[in-house]
Amino acid sequence: MPSASTIETLTQLSYLVAAALFIVGLKRMSSPVTAVSGVRWAGLGMVLATVVTLAFMGASSLNLMLVIGAIAVGGILAWVSGKRVAMTNMPQMIALYNGMGGGAAGAIAAVELYRGSEHSIVHLTIATIGGFIGSVSFSGSLIAFAKLQGLITKSVRFGGQKFVNLAILLVTVALGFMVVSGMELGAAQGGVPAVSLFFAFALLLGIAMTLPIGGADMPVVISLYNALTGLAVGFEGFVLDNAAMIIAGTVVGAAGTLLTQLMAKAMNRSLANVLFSNFGESSSAGGTGVTGSQKAIEASDAGVMMAYSQKIIIVPGYGMAVAQAQHKVWELAQLLIDHGVKVRFAIHPVAGRMPGHMNVLLAEAGVPYDLISDLDEINAEFETADVALIIGANDVVNPDARANRASPIFGMPILNADKAKNVIVIKRGQGQGFSGIDNALFVLDQTRMLYGDAQSAVGQLIQAVKAAG
Ligand code: NDP
Repeated sequence: MPSASTIETLTQLSYLVAAALFIVGLKRMSSPVTAVSGVRWAGLGMVLATVVTLAFMGASSLNLMLVIGAIAVGGILAWVSGKRVAMTNMPQMIALYNGMGGGAAGAIAAVELYRGSEHSIVHLTIATIGGFIGSVSFSGSLIAFAKLQGLITKSVRFGGQKFVNLAILLVTVALGFMVVSGMELGAAQGGVPAVSLFFAFALLLGIAMTLPIGGADMPVVISLYNALTGLAVGFEGFVLDNAAMIIAGTVVGAAGTLLTQLMAKAMNRSLANVLFSNFGESSSAGGTGVTGSQKAIEASDAGVMMAYSQKIIIVPGYGMAVAQAQHKVWELAQLLIDHGVKVRFAIHPVAGRMPGHMNVLLAEAGVPYDLISDLDEINAEFETADVALIIGANDVVNPDARANRASPIFGMPILNADKAKNVIVIKRGQGQGFSGIDNALFVLDQTRMLYGDAQSAVGQLIQAVKAAG
């Protein structure tokens, strides 16, 4: 049996290796080419950290059995649900997993805080902060999951709600102070200890904060909770003196914060606007002064136009994801390339319902990365495109974001599809996009609407391009 100091050194070394694997994994996730291997590297780091912790923690065999049993149940559930989940349901799955992370951090804090006086005040303070953040993230993420899954369909709003939420926050903070300072709320007389009330209020805060937010804003909120979960895990890493948790938590916290900022920036909205406005719901539904009518086109005519074009820019959006049309879209693009047409894909940073949504779908269909460009790279090229083919995208190509100050999405960077010589829009009907507003692009002179489900409409275009020779 190695000495205690050897075990300690080995443990810390393994944590360092695990942390390096997390960071390598995260770095590799920054490009679609290396993303899958990035997930594996980070997963390997997680396995190493878990095995080392289990092997060296010196737990009783009963505890060890409990931990292994929990890992087995959690692992099987995650494996099965991960295999089954549809791409369009990914945001709620992330919300659920993220909630579990926050809950785990909260649970660690609860164990430490119920032990209370055994610990120093610094230890208790860190555990309390981590417990607070973890609990808010846990209950908030569960509400986000329920909204995205359609289990909660209404956003609960009432007058003075912000003040109620503020009051819950203040009570939670006050209870946190009591926990740290060792003040009990009648625990000795059989009352409820401050620790229990503290957690109850922190959980309530997560629920109260998330209930009023519109379902459509959930991806940003989930990203925020993801950052909070990372932070909570980092705090609890200090509590348990576990370097792997501290590093992994900090990395997740930083990545989540950057992602939240990126999403908010790509929508030109502040985080406060996401958290406290009713964007995409009743407030913004309907007209923003878009006049004119949409003009339909037959797939056969659109096919001829495309077959004789020199340059086509394809803009995929949420509708392509819903229809799972990415394979057909790539088939169409290959056909056009064979016809000598220059084809590019333009990806808006918040197209779809999660960051990288379109990149993942196009990668799955086998679209080469050099055909895919992001907003900054491609926007100047629309002017030289014969056709901008919009497939189930709406808000991300709405020129009102550039030109109409009254529009709720004014200022949001958009793909300049309206600058193309011709625009063909595939969508099922007159439905609005995520923001619930009309789209000025759809009534422009050079725009034609090809109505239908993206999968079948693109299928018709394939036939039409083939028929055009
Ligand atoms: P939108 O949600 O704006 O529009 C999607 C369009 O697809 C709808 O107008 C709908 O019209 C059409 N559609 C739906 N189903 C189908 C189908 N089966 N076949 C064909 N068309 C279909 O999508 P965008 O991608 O343009 O914009 C994304 C929006 O989501 C932005 O407003 C963004 O801010 C927001 N958002 C994005 C996040 C992200 O991280 N990506 C996070 C949070 C919000 P119709 O019903 O007529 O078919």
